[in-house]
Amino acid sequence: MQKGLGDLDELYQEVLLDHYRNPRNTGRLDDPASEVDAVNPFCGDEIHMQLGMDGDTLSRISVTGQGCSISQAAGSLLSELVEGKTSEEARELRELFRGMMMGEELSDDVADRLDDNLALQGVRRFPVRIKCALLSWSALIDALDKAATAE
Ligand code: ZN
Repeated sequence: MQKGLGDLDELYQEVLLDHYRNPRNTGRLDDPASEVDAVNPFCGDEIHMQLGMDGDTLSRISVTGQGCSISQAAGSLLSELVEGKTSEEARELRELFRGMMMGEELSDDVADRLDDNLALQGVRRFPVRIKCALLSWSALIDALDKAATAE
């Protein structure tokens, strides 16, 4: 992913700004299967997440919060990526996302699956911000675990 990084950076920057300014899936759910709060004390980021489950499928998701642009854009990007996926798929995506943030080489297949979430890969050059990008993903795992034990 080293070639044309300048253009790519600009494109990714636009994606992140768009999600920060117009976050997706912020509507609160009336009857969530689970909900969790997550905090990143290093940056002061907060995420509140609700999941609606249809069997094992993540049918609805609500992500709200406050904090830095990376944490909030990451929550919005996550919500678009995992809605409609099974809990197993969502957990797989979390591993792929975390791998990307830890600097793993991305295959074309992984890049396809992460879709717009690739826009966050530039964050890995700023190690203190990686926690900001991962906050929503750890909230998601907590919420999925909660939903699973609630059944
Ligand atoms: Zn942050």
